[in-house]
Amino acid sequence: MARLTPFPKCLPVREFSINQKLELYNTMILTILKYGAGTVQLNDQQYHKIELIHLKALRDILRTRSTTINDAVLSETRMLPIKAMFEKEKLQLFGNLFSLDKKRLVRKLFLSSKIVKIDLNEILSNYSLESSWKKYINGKMTPLQWKSLVNETIDKIELVRIKDSLSKTIKCPELAEINLRILTNEQCYDNHQSSRVPNYMDLSNNVAEFIFKLKAGSLPLEVETQRYLNVPRENRICKICNTGQVEDIFHFCFVCPSLKEERDDLMSLFERADEMSHLDLYRSLFCSSTNFHNSSLTLHELWKKRNILLFTKSPGIDTHSARSSRLHPID
Ligand SMILES: [Zn+2]
Repeated sequence: MARLTPFPKCLPVREFSINQKLELYNTMILTILKYGAGTVQLNDQQYHKIELIHLKALRDILRTRSTTINDAVLSETRMLPIKAMFEKEKLQLFGNLFSLDKKRLVRKLFLSSKIVKIDLNEILSNYSLESSWKKYINGKMTPLQWKSLVNETIDKIELVRIKDSLSKTIKCPELAEINLRILTNEQCYDNHQSSRVPNYMDLSNNVAEFIFKLKAGSLPLEVETQRYLNVPRENRICKICNTGQVEDIFHFCFVCPSLKEERDDLMSLFERADEMSHLDLYRSLFCSSTNFHNSSLTLHELWKKRNILLFTKSPGIDTHSARSSRLHPID
């Protein structure tokens, strides 16, 4: 754990993209957190403690607030929860041990240990892998096939769980829907084999952080910031225009007349934007690989304009939005 302390110092370094920070985290920190994962016996409380460190680091990398739901953080960073990682390591280690020469002491110890057997059976049942394990120990599967089956199964089960969790998010139903699509839509990711994170994470830090918050529904718009003040949703009105509408993500991106000039630039990127449904507009913003870079930058321009207007048009009415945001007001 001692090596965990220097890492947060490099998190605020603006020269690193989010992708680079995630790679650093993977190689420098996660390997320590997962050290001995295959053999160690932990209870739920201990898993939870490590999970907190894991999620805290991921939130710091994304520079998002603690209210962003855990599954949004995990899905954006393509990370598994700690317990799933440990169980994956264990199943792969058990597979390796079983494939060793029958005379090896370590294999004999593995097969004779009651604790390991209980652990193995529990994890196999968690992922419904009992019959596959039987196939493996009966020689009907190679160690490599077992390893990739474990990888695929745990990743798939986690994906289903995250989809379910995101679909229940109440912050922004359209975003939840589009996030689900993004999870399974290859178009939204770089073709680069080692990179399985959304392509916006290679944008500059400010823009990447902004896009993450927008997608996760945690951008400090009135709909979000006034939630903390217990203001009813219908009263979380946009303060930079006089439409009297709630300032939610859709209003900010596609409606607010005060941002018309910047929005025209945004809409010019899409064909027939007027005829698109809400969902199609979100999809165009977040899933179109051709427009993604430009639309992200233009959306960020909208955000900067919105914050300038909030401070110049409505001084003193509310600075909570800006204060509560980790983004600089005109960031
Ligand atoms: Zn407005």
